[in-house]
Amino acid sequence: MKKILSAILAGAMLCTSAMMFSACGNKTESTADSKTESSAAEAKELHMATNAAFEPYEYKEGGEVVGIDAEIAKAVCDKLGCKLVIDDMDFDAIITAVTSGKADFGMAGMTVTDERKQSVDFTDSYTNAVQVIIVNEDDGKVAGKADLEGKTIGVQLGTTGDLYVSDDVKDAQVERFNKGADAVLALTQGKVDAVVIDNQPAKAFVAQNPGTKILEEDFANEEYAICLAKGSELTEKFNTALKELKDDGTIDTVIKKYIKD
Ligand code: GLN
Repeated sequence: MKKILSAILAGAMLCTSAMMFSACGNKTESTADSKTESSAAEAKELHMATNAAFEPYEYKEGGEVVGIDAEIAKAVCDKLGCKLVIDDMDFDAIITAVTSGKADFGMAGMTVTDERKQSVDFTDSYTNAVQVIIVNEDDGKVAGKADLEGKTIGVQLGTTGDLYVSDDVKDAQVERFNKGADAVLALTQGKVDAVVIDNQPAKAFVAQNPGTKILEEDFANEEYAICLAKGSELTEKFNTALKELKDDGTIDTVIKKYIKD
């Protein structure tokens, strides 16, 4: 009887210590704390809020969300011993999904900004990006950033492109779209004079829309990171995982798989 009891006890201890190393198990670990007991039995899953219309970071291929962010998120979740579940939504809905607890984290080529830091925490950055200007090739109205003044500019709602153009471009008429692709479509139809958007998706949009081009002059430099609820215990674990994935070359390999130049 004693033997059986101690075997059970040892098993339980093993289990607990194994869980201490995994973020998903971490919630179970908190059963010791009666206040957090209600969250105890939850989640082997981590829900990622994203907008899968942002190639090469996240886009749909055969019904599945693929891309740089999807692969990095999977690698982070694997390290934490969690199952990744991707929830697709408008970009504009991601931060609310995270702050309301509907999603555990947001990853969507999301730029770190001071304004967003008011409502969410960010991990360390995993890559850099640039906001660029797309125009119609033979248009000539906008040849650089300064020419945006007073123009009609297409952006993706709630993105940094939206923010910068709305705040910094004098007399701009800002047309906001849920998808970057729709902003570029409006450009090809002559409904807007230019589109301001992240450089990698811009390349994909230009490739899909002959007659459009990216201007040489960049609009702004930025950094992408993963956002989590303020004060989330996961942030530190994500940072550790991201550092390991940077150090062992995984992040580089994933980025090079999707971005060839
Ligand atoms: N990097 C931009 C931003 O944060 C756009 C991201 C996106 O559209 N997925 O806001």
